[in-house]
Amino acid sequence: MSDPLGFIPEELRALEREALLREVRALGSPQEPTVTLDGERLILLASNNYLGLATDPRVVAAAAEAAHRWGAGSGSARLISGGTTLHDELESRLSDLKRTEAALLFSSGYLANLGTMSALVRRGDAIFSDELNHASIIDGARLSQASVHVYRHADTSHLAALLREHRGSARRLVVTDTVFSMDGDLAPLPSIVEVCERESAILMVDEAHATGVVGPGGRGAVAHFKLDGEVPVVMGTLSKALGSAGGYIAGSGDLIAFLRNRARAFVFDTAPPPPAVAAAIAAIDVLEQEPERTERARALAQRLAAGLRDAGFDVPEPVAAIVPVLAGSAENALALSRTLRDAGVLVPAIRPPSVAPGTARLRATVMATHTDDQIDTSIHAFAEARVGSGA
Ligand SMILES: *Cc1c(COP(=O)(O)O)cnc(C)c1O
Repeated sequence: MSDPLGFIPEELRALEREALLREVRALGSPQEPTVTLDGERLILLASNNYLGLATDPRVVAAAAEAAHRWGAGSGSARLISGGTTLHDELESRLSDLKRTEAALLFSSGYLANLGTMSALVRRGDAIFSDELNHASIIDGARLSQASVHVYRHADTSHLAALLREHRGSARRLVVTDTVFSMDGDLAPLPSIVEVCERESAILMVDEAHATGVVGPGGRGAVAHFKLDGEVPVVMGTLSKALGSAGGYIAGSGDLIAFLRNRARAFVFDTAPPPPAVAAAIAAIDVLEQEPERTERARALAQRLAAGLRDAGFDVPEPVAAIVPVLAGSAENALALSRTLRDAGVLVPAIRPPSVAPGTARLRATVMATHTDDQIDTSIHAFAEARVGSGA
């Protein structure tokens, strides 16, 4: 008798051969500028906690108080009895931050993309997606069963040509990251908005890596480009710069009422837990009171990128807190990551399928709470690793 799960060890061996086998790490400390891993202290250049708010005492206290007042879990979906005035308060804070009429919470950014895309379009409709969009957008497109048309990265002319080709589709949805998760660059939003208006296509943007880091007051890329009110569907996550967990959509009152009824990832999912909701509210408070955190995160990313370029690495100019360091093959990326870890810096190798084959990289991210010294020590470690590899 053959083992019906026999394909699993085979696949694992194949992944290992291709330097693509992935394993989880178990930190022994919170998401701070340095962390402990297997008893060693390392500089953390791998967290999306861009503003350091996941461990900010005010944010942590808000989560703890909410756990005492509201409990650890929410008990049911929002449409049943899982919603509280705390959930409503966060939605109202998010719609204020994003300058929209309303907002809707999801349990994660991933679910916000899945639920929203599959509610807005269906079989017979068409989705237009940047080739570097996040996996949750790709999966949202698949779930919707609409036809998917991928346009070249940040290429608005290609997007416009595809939209013209598919004028017959009932509904057309254009989706893009605003700050791309693995490249850290900005989508050309003004021209995308213009094309969508001309073509009467729906525009949805994913601000996961922009909220808190880009734009005035960290309000995101839509605000950075002064496009408030011109992007009908704005998605974001609470799990990155806002230091908590959960996702949201901001938009018109009608859009939000529609999603409450039609987004299955909202309807059939338990409401986010009160501590996470309270933490996000407190994080927005800090963001508003200390806008210098946003500046600091961006300045540190620029400091890191400049130092790495001086050391001979291929690093694009960062616009947010993400600094990609291109390494080529998965093996090269993995080797560089291991050398850095030995030197006391934690920067993961990003390999296919997260990025295209041949574009494996180290994805370094900074936090507003890193010191200049920690960044400079990291640059030095990269420089030594490069000399050591003979690259
Ligand atoms: C992280 C991320 C998501 C998913 O958000 P979670 O809250 O982690 O589920 C969605 N889109 C982009 C671009 C992301 O980077």
